[in-house]
Amino acid sequence: MTDTRPSESSDRPPTGSLVPDPRLGGHRIRGVVFDAHQIQARVRELAAEISEAYGTEDRLLVLCLLKGAFLFTSDLVRHITLPVQLDFMVAASYGDAKETSGEVTVRYDPPMDLTGRAVLLVEDIIDTGTTLAALVPRLVEQGAARVDVCALLHKREPTAVVEARWVGFDAPNSFLVGYGLDHAEDFRQLPYIASL
Ligand code: 5GP
Ligand code: MG
Repeated sequence: MTDTRPSESSDRPPTGSLVPDPRLGGHRIRGVVFDAHQIQARVRELAAEISEAYGTEDRLLVLCLLKGAFLFTSDLVRHITLPVQLDFMVAASYGDAKETSGEVTVRYDPPMDLTGRAVLLVEDIIDTGTTLAALVPRLVEQGAARVDVCALLHKREPTAVVEARWVGFDAPNSFLVGYGLDHAEDFRQLPYIASL
């Protein structure tokens, strides 16, 4: 029979272990910054706050910014107790580089009518804020009654150009991977967030 108990080994980081995490595929990480338990607890808190902040009349549309926010969004919506609709946005500003290019290209927009709706834009991490600063006005132009941002991580750069209503964690100023965040498409599957 399948053992349905939570597996310690799959959501515990490999820190201090002699056995490397096979999901790292031989890559090295510097250290675990937020473990799976911390992340899940924070996601539940954020979902509770979000559920309080909107009403059914807001017709909340949760917009997941692909690809980085895919795990965060899927965990978050499962704990939101309001009816919501879900769609995605694809915007690129980084490519495979660790530095932002400053230019934001939108490759997929939600096709539904946003008129009068509340939109919650879910982002993996805010660094310069360039990505969101380009997307929020675009959604407002499309008729959204209000656009709020929920970011899992925030680097708290003093020059960041966007306000997030909800932030999961303040992030250290290093390059982070895991729980959706990649480096050249690796590491997205990790249930914890690590520094490269
Ligand atoms: P911003 O537009 O705020 O400068 O950058 C936001 C985007 O840059 C994020 O959505 C993410 O794709 C990428 N980014 C910024 N910092 C990091 C990081 O530490 N790790 C990863 N994997 N991506 C990052
Ligand atoms: Mg990215």
